[in-house]
Order: sequence, then C-alpha cells, then structure tokens
Amino acid sequence: MSDSTKKLGELDKEFVWHPFTQMKEYESKDPIVIEKGEGAYLIDSEGNKYIDGVSSLWVNIHGHKVPEIDKAIKEQVDSISHSTLLGMTNPPAAKLAEQLINICPEGLKKVFYSGDGASAVEVALKMSFQYWKNKDKPEKTKFVYLENGYHGDTLGAVSVGGIDLFHSAFKELLFDTYKAPSYYCYRCPLNKTYPSCNIACAGEVEKILSVHHQQICAVILEPYVQAAGGMIVSPEGYLKKVREYCDKYDVLLILDEVATGFGRTGKMFACQHEDVTPDILVIGKGMTGGYLPLSATITNQKVYDAFLGDYEEYKTFFHGHSYAGNPISCAASIANIEVFEKNNTLTELKEKIEYFENELKEFSGLEHVGNVRNKGLMAGIELVEDKESKKPYEAGLKMGWKVADKALENEVMLRPLGNVVVLMPPIGIPMEDLKKLMKVTFRSIKEATES
Ligand code: PMP
Repeated sequence: MSDSTKKLGELDKEFVWHPFTQMKEYESKDPIVIEKGEGAYLIDSEGNKYIDGVSSLWVNIHGHKVPEIDKAIKEQVDSISHSTLLGMTNPPAAKLAEQLINICPEGLKKVFYSGDGASAVEVALKMSFQYWKNKDKPEKTKFVYLENGYHGDTLGAVSVGGIDLFHSAFKELLFDTYKAPSYYCYRCPLNKTYPSCNIACAGEVEKILSVHHQQICAVILEPYVQAAGGMIVSPEGYLKKVREYCDKYDVLLILDEVATGFGRTGKMFACQHEDVTPDILVIGKGMTGGYLPLSATITNQKVYDAFLGDYEEYKTFFHGHSYAGNPISCAASIANIEVFEKNNTLTELKEKIEYFENELKEFSGLEHVGNVRNKGLMAGIELVEDKESKKPYEAGLKMGWKVADKALENEVMLRPLGNVVVLMPPIGIPMEDLKKLMKVTFRSIKEATES
C-alpha cells in the first residue's frame, strides 16, 4: 500500500463516522479509497479498478465522468453555484421542472425540489397530510405502508418504513400507521402462491382502506421493487390494484421511485409499466446521473391546488430546504436527461436486460440460491442455507458479504442486503462490462456458498 493511501486511511479512521457501518469492524480493516471513476469503473488510490456493480449505492446512471454532465456542471459554476428557491427561481431549476414533467407519467404537474430521497419523502408525507387539512378533512391523518418498505432514514420516512433491522430502534419516536403485507412472493406473508393468489397482498391494502379510509390520508410504497427490503419484485398488476383502491376510498397514492426511477426497471419510471400515475411521485438518487444530491416530490394539479389561497388562510406549504433547486444539481440533472435521449439509453437497455435476465436464470441452478428476482437492471439473488426449506443463512455468517469479498478480489464492487446479493449496475454500462459483472458474481456466489 502506498504511503498516501495509508495516510488517507488513517485520517479517515480518525475523523469520519460512516453511514450504515459498524465502525468497530471498519476500523479493523484497510479502507478502500475511491479516487477516480471512468465509465462503469471505480478506481481506488492504489490504481485498482472495480466494476461499480451497485451504481455507487444506486445513484449512478450513465457511468462516471460522463462528458455532457461534466460540462454542464462546469458551465453552471461559471454562472452561479447557488441561490435560494424560496420565493424566486434560477434557470436550471425552471428548465428542469419542465423536462421532468415531460418524462413523468401523464397527470403530474408540479415539482417541489429537495436534496435527498428521505427529504423528498418527508415532503410527500407532510404534503398529503396537509392536503386533507386544507380540504377540510383534518381527520385524515394516517398512512398505509408496506412491510419491507424503505423510504429513507429521517423520522417520517422511518415511520412508514418496514425493515425492523433499521427501524425498530426508533419505534417510540414514530407516528401511528397501518402496515400492509409485502408483495414478497418467494416468502409470501399470506402463504399463497402467485398467480392463484389473485394478488391477495393488494387485497390486504383494500381491507385496511375499507375499514379506516376516513382516517387515512395516503398509501406510500415503492412501485415494482422494494429495493432496500431485498430487491423484492411485485407481481404484475399489484400496482394497478392499489391505484384503484386509493381512488375508490379517496386516499392519495404516494409512489417512491427514489431507487426505481431513471430507467432502472427498463422504463423511465417503474409505475409506467402499469400505466399508473400516483398523486405524488418521489424521485432522487439517479436524478443527477449519480453526480450530486437532488430530489423532488412531484404532484398532480389536485394536490397543488389544495395549497392555493390567500396568505392568511395558511394553506401555504411551510417546508423547504436550504439547497432546494440548487442550480448546479439541476444543471447536472438536465444533462442527465439529455444523455438519455442522445444515447438512446432506454432503447439500448432492452438488449442488456435480455442478456441480464438470461444470465440470471443460470444463478437459480446454484445450490444455495433460493430465489432470483429482477425488474430491468435491478436484481436480488437470495442466498439460502437450504433450498428445499428456504432456510436462510444466519445473519452472523454474513454470507452476502462473503460473496461481495470474493467479487472484490475479481474487480467487482458489490454491496449486499443481508443474504441478498444485489446487482444494480449503471444502466449505461457497456455490454462487455455487464458480462464481466455477471460472470464474476456467479463465480463468487458459487465459491462463497459451496466451499
Ligand atoms: N426511498 C427509497 C426507495 C430508497 O431506496 C432510498 C435510499 N436507498 C430513499 C428513499 C432515501 O434516499 P436518500 O438516501 O437519498 O435519503
């Protein structure tokens, strides 16, 4: 290891507290210092290259160092780096909003900017809550959310989060909600089998709404893929049903596409697979191509109109973040969307998804792979100790990490979710790199689980 890497590692260990990281364990290892990026690759301070197999935590879209995005950021810095969006605007924020509305599902009209996914979720929760107050239905205060759902780490987002490992420590701080079962077919919480179940998990959402709709302001869920929950993929038709129930019982539908947005599932947004438009759409992560923090809560006209009035009616949405609509982030985001068009990203993606799905079929044959699921280029490979009984590996074995460690030895960077090996490369990944990612991951799973 070079002296400069060693020095950086020491500095980091002395001063940085890392997210979602057991620091005792971290301090006992040599840290990886990522210094550069190039296309689908990350390059560390020792010059080692790794395929970015999870898009730098699901944010990177077209790869690293995309010339168009680099240029847009540099040009914006030459004009201005930040001014507030409270009561005024800036050119990239206004232009981006139009572009977002153009690519969003039909019916969404207004863009409210924040900085990260969790903040945009908080906005969605507070907006839907205040929406009913402004509509003279103040009794509609509760949310329905899904088991295994994840919407970020701020307290509102945690209140509608369904992952015990992350959320149970904060239980006493959270507000009351209604929990519906996850759309987790491999371990169906209702002990049913798709398709004969007729998507009974969606029916459970209806049951809650039918009894409590007068107290419910919104349903929130991740369409098609419960990402942090373990890349759990919903059956086709689930989303449409939930949309229908929300309409029937006069409840808002919030779709959190922070993870699934920007092409990950094969369409720009996952809800477009079922032609569903939410009342409120939440986006983040890939919005700037994985360059800068930016998120948005996008509403239909109905939600927006409920906040209009004279000042003294106090219908204003009193919420905002200092860096909302940051011009550099918005400029990066405009360039990100333009690259989609220029590179024909969504069309090119079809061939990659086809290859990806074919390769994934092979994984199912491995002795300790219980379930393989994907939507587009998002995949979860669930490792089990025993395939027959679906017995999971004990958490302490860290089997997902054993696979990731093997992959790292072969120039592939992964980050598992418990026993689920996650694959979520940048959608702009060149075919040859995607091939390498699949081969190395297959071999790593085989070696880690069968030795
Ligand atoms: N919603 C979903 C679906 C997510 O996957 C995440 C992050 N993984 C968030 C919200 C929170 O986003 P952020 O980390 O930017 O706060």
